[in-house]
Amino acid sequence: FLLYIFVVYMLQEQEVHAAEMERTFIAIKPDGVQRGLIAEIISRFERKGFKLVAIKIVVPSKGFAQKHYHDLKERPFFNGLCDFLSSGPVVAMVWEGEGVIKYGRKLIGATDPQKSEPGTIRGDLAIVVGRNIIHGSDGPETAKDEIKLWFKPEELVSYSSNAEKWIYG
Ligand code: ADP
Repeated sequence: FLLYIFVVYMLQEQEVHAAEMERTFIAIKPDGVQRGLIAEIISRFERKGFKLVAIKIVVPSKGFAQKHYHDLKERPFFNGLCDFLSSGPVVAMVWEGEGVIKYGRKLIGATDPQKSEPGTIRGDLAIVVGRNIIHGSDGPETAKDEIKLWFKPEELVSYSSNAEKWIYG
């Protein structure tokens, strides 16, 4: 009986931890898709140890792009940016893991690829700011809002992977 209680407790603990795990929204923009960089980009997040919990390919409408980039609506490049995001397929994803929001931004690199370090996605794979191939949420609030904008709750998959005990110890 005590063993049963212990097992139930451990399972609940695992669920709680899974529920608490940080998530971020990552999108491969139309230039990344057209240039055949989907697998390259996914593999960088996957090899790090982050877990993919949602993925789809969509062509966002211009209105949707404007919603996604609403924080930038006063910027001179806003219209061109929204035209661009809605110009072709985008791979929308949610990645999960400890520190994934902040470290995801590190993997991505600086907004301007010329200022991104080698080894980062933009540093290695892009040249100009208007074609920087990938988007990543810049903080916990935007992550929450962007995941909600791009995905229905049922499109997010919670699962545990056997690798986790080797990744987190
Ligand atoms: P990030 O994508 O790194 O979070 P921002 O939120 O500042 O950067 O900008 C969103 C996107 O707008 C950038 O990824 C880039 O595609 C585009 N952008 C930013 N600055 C410029 C600019 N000066 N000219 C053209 N496009 C820009």
